[in-house]
Amino acid sequence: MQSLEEILQQATSTIQSAADLKSLDQCRVHYLGKKGQLTEYLKTLGQLPPEERPAAGQKINAAKEAIQTLIEARDAELKKTLIEKQLAAEAVDVTLPGRSVNFGSIHPITQTFADMRKIFSQMGFIFMEGPEIEDDYHNFAALNVPPLHPARAMQDTFYFSDGLLLRAHTSTVQIRAMKKIAPPLRVVAMGRVYRRDFDMTHTPMFHQMECLVIDEGITFANLKALLLQFLREFFAAEVSIRLRPSYFPFTEPSAEVDISCLNCSGKGCRICKNTGWLEVLGCGMVHPNVLREVGIDSERYRGFAFGVGLDRLTLLKYGLSDLRSLFENDLRFLRQF
Ligand SMILES: [Zn+2]
Repeated sequence: MQSLEEILQQATSTIQSAADLKSLDQCRVHYLGKKGQLTEYLKTLGQLPPEERPAAGQKINAAKEAIQTLIEARDAELKKTLIEKQLAAEAVDVTLPGRSVNFGSIHPITQTFADMRKIFSQMGFIFMEGPEIEDDYHNFAALNVPPLHPARAMQDTFYFSDGLLLRAHTSTVQIRAMKKIAPPLRVVAMGRVYRRDFDMTHTPMFHQMECLVIDEGITFANLKALLLQFLREFFAAEVSIRLRPSYFPFTEPSAEVDISCLNCSGKGCRICKNTGWLEVLGCGMVHPNVLREVGIDSERYRGFAFGVGLDRLTLLKYGLSDLRSLFENDLRFLRQF
C-alpha cells in the first residue's frame, strides 16, 4: 500500500492541475469517496495494534482534511476563472460605434411634386387628378384636335384596342376641370403621362404638370407673371424667362418658354448648348374652341394654360443629365438626395 505521504503528494498535484470542475470532482471521489483511497486506508486501521490506532487515525484524518482543503481551494479557483471568462464573453465595449439606422430618402420626382404643391397652393390653386387611361375625347377631340388633325402625329400615343389610350399629356384634366367647376377657375393637375419615346431625354412614362386659369379679364401678361414667379420659386434663383411663338392646338396664341441657363446664367455653356437659354415648358391662351367645347362663354371668360415636364425640371434643378436615371431605382443614385 502507498504511504499516506505519497498519496498526499500525488493528490496535491492532481488536484492543482484539475482543468475543470468535472475532473476536480473525479479527484474528490478518487481520494475521499466511499471507495476512495483514504477511505480504503481508514479500513486498514483495524489491522493495527490498538495502541497505534489513535495516532494512525489522526494522520489519516489530517490527510483527509488537507485534501479537502486543496479541493476547496481549486474549486474556488476554477469557479472564479469561469466567471471571469463569462464576464469577458458578455462584456459590452461601449467604445464601439453604434449600429447605424438606414434612412430612406425622398425621390427627386416626389420632391418636385411636393415643391409644386407648395408653390401653387400658396397662389390659391386647387389640385385635381384625372385617369391615366383616357379616351380620345379628353386626350384629343375636346382639346381642339379632331380626328385626322396633323397634331395627332406630334405625340406618339399608346393606344388600346378598344379606342382607349394612355394619356399623352395632363391637359386631359383641363377638360374634366372645366366641365366640373364653373369659372373663375385655378387648377393644377400633376401626374404620369405616356409616349412612345426612349432616350436620354425621353422615357415612355414621365410626369407632367398642367396649370389652368380661367377668369374674366385674363391676359397674356398674367400668364407671364405667373410663369416668372413659379419658375423663380421652383429653382430658388432669379431666372429670366423668354417666350418664343409656338403652336399647340389647344392654345392661341401659344409660346415655348425658356429660362436663362441655371449653369451659366445666360453666358453660354455646354448645358444650354451655348444659347444661354433652357427650354422648360409650353403655354398659351386657352383656345376659344376648347372653351366652347366645355360650355364656357368665350366672350366673357378667357384663360391661359401651361404644361411642364416635371422630370426635365427636376433634372435641371439638380444638375442631372440622363432622364432615365430617375426611373432606374439605383439606390446609389437615389441616396444622394
Ligand atoms: Zn448655360
